[in-house]
Amino acid sequence: MGEQSQHVDVLMYHSISDAGGPTSIPAQVFSDQMNALAETGYQVANFVDLVAWRDGQNKLPEKTAVITFDDGFLDFREAAWPVLNKLGFPAIVFLPTDCMGGYENWNGANHPPRQLMSWGDISALHKDGARFGSHSQNHANLTQLRKEELGVQLRQSRSNLENALGESVRAFAAPYGAVNEGVLSAIAKYYDIAAGTRLGRTDTAVDVFDIPRLEMHYFRDIALWRRYLEGKAERYLAIRKFARNIRQAFH
Ligand SMILES: [Zn+2]
Repeated sequence: MGEQSQHVDVLMYHSISDAGGPTSIPAQVFSDQMNALAETGYQVANFVDLVAWRDGQNKLPEKTAVITFDDGFLDFREAAWPVLNKLGFPAIVFLPTDCMGGYENWNGANHPPRQLMSWGDISALHKDGARFGSHSQNHANLTQLRKEELGVQLRQSRSNLENALGESVRAFAAPYGAVNEGVLSAIAKYYDIAAGTRLGRTDTAVDVFDIPRLEMHYFRDIALWRRYLEGKAERYLAIRKFARNIRQAFH
């Protein structure tokens, strides 16, 4: 059929809890968002499948979503995975490997800090089908590191994950979505694909090392989420994008 341009929606979550703030989504809202995906006929693909899709080596159904979680909060195991598992939806969690087993302790962390998964949790979930990628070693802003430190963060977090999971790790997400040209080319040395935090849909022209995502905080209103999934709320996304760019410009 050739020229049709297809989009994939890559969803971004952090914590599924009542902790408040833009990185926590209540369990009921999450469950409603997932059910809306299923009910509107969406299929959910694995994040790494986007590489072959971009290269034209595999096809994805017209309505395809990818589900991602940053930071590896314990509530992924308790609140998110049971819902995903029931619907048969795959998901990837990006882990700051040196922080696991503790609490979030980086710049911008919630007060009180939210608990992270242990390596025992991670390995149990992996056996159950959950996927994992790297989110650096300690959730550093990679644009502020010297070149050698940057290489260590990318390489060491990957090898820690590979040792824990017993398989190769191909996916990365930069903390804070903070990247520049140097960071992006370093990521490309160690990984096949990386998620960013730019708001938007993903098409085959995308930079696979800076995949845009939908911040699901913006879609807590289930009626709005359903309208988006039915293709009726793209204007909403454009407005959010505009507002977000304005905000960032003043930061
Ligand atoms: Zn993060």
